[in-house]
Amino acid sequence: GGGGGQSDLNQKIRVCVRKRPLNKKEIDRGEKDISPTAGIRSININEPKTKVDLTKYIEQHSFTYDDVFDSDAANDQVYQRTAQPLVKYIFDGGKATCFAYGQTGSGKTYTMLDPRHGLYVLAARDIFHLLRQPEYQHLTAWIGFYEIYQGQLYDLLNNRKKLFAREDGKQNVVIVGLKEYIIKNVDDLMQVFEYGSQARSTGSTGANSDSSRSHAILQILLKPAKSRKKIIGKLSFIDLAGSERGADRGDADAKTRMEGAEINKSLLALKECIRALDQDKRHTPFRQSKLTQVLKDSFVGNSRTCMIATISPNQSNSEHTLNTLRYADRVK
Ligand code: ADP
Ligand code: MG
Repeated sequence: GGGGGQSDLNQKIRVCVRKRPLNKKEIDRGEKDISPTAGIRSININEPKTKVDLTKYIEQHSFTYDDVFDSDAANDQVYQRTAQPLVKYIFDGGKATCFAYGQTGSGKTYTMLDPRHGLYVLAARDIFHLLRQPEYQHLTAWIGFYEIYQGQLYDLLNNRKKLFAREDGKQNVVIVGLKEYIIKNVDDLMQVFEYGSQARSTGSTGANSDSSRSHAILQILLKPAKSRKKIIGKLSFIDLAGSERGADRGDADAKTRMEGAEINKSLLALKECIRALDQDKRHTPFRQSKLTQVLKDSFVGNSRTCMIATISPNQSNSEHTLNTLRYADRVK
């Protein structure tokens, strides 16, 4: 990373943490913010523990990332230091991915896919601004939106049709039959997105996937106006399944345990694949999960990755918060 207080926005991999504010319920319960000193790049967490003798003591943990956004940061601010540098990059022919990782309820969807202020909307504003410039008149923008649930791909823009991924021999991953729509402006994008979001929450095939158990992948593609097969740039926004789903839960029924194991596998594979980007490793375990398999072409060659780990501030989530911070710490 870059020296000093600020880190380089153009690194191949950036890892940031965002803390959401305490919500009304938590405040009403008298819960405290356990990370009162979230700074520009570092965050301290007080882990409250209760011993058998009922004396309370606190363990302190300290972590450093490329950026840390405190609970008062707006999506605009987060955008400037996460997805915005990726927008420029895809116009230069690169592939870029922005992930939200974290426990259910920690703010992944709010950050990434909020219908009006999510990073995808903010990015789209900049993308269409650039597309109106003379040097980019030859490009058009397309959107694809799908979900991975239990290792299976579902097209959110086509009635949750099952999809299959294959490689084309030129390092590109092709998702066969994925429905893509041309978008001319931000309103087009928001409309298509809303349509897809409905498919995500209702799970009309009876596959029963709620948003905490699936990875959602929204992709904005830049293609030459004349050839829809060729991809110039690709920006993916990924709202990952809730990280707590991967935790070992003794109480869970068989189906829930299986889901958990699948999610765990994909989140571990993701971490390994991102780490490998930084190390020029020969072997990267893309095949270990469907998630990393479909993202392969966003990792090899010209690629940029930004991970936003979202955390809850309250005491009763401290264990999940620490798990998230440790995961993010090891990604890079
Ligand atoms: P996740 O997708 O990780 O399960 P959500 O994005 O749905 O979590 O957020 C849970 C709740 O917290 C939502 O009601 C959301 O509006 C709110 N929230 C999350 N992050 C923030 C934030 N940074 N500022 C204000 N409210 C937030
Ligand atoms: Mg969500």
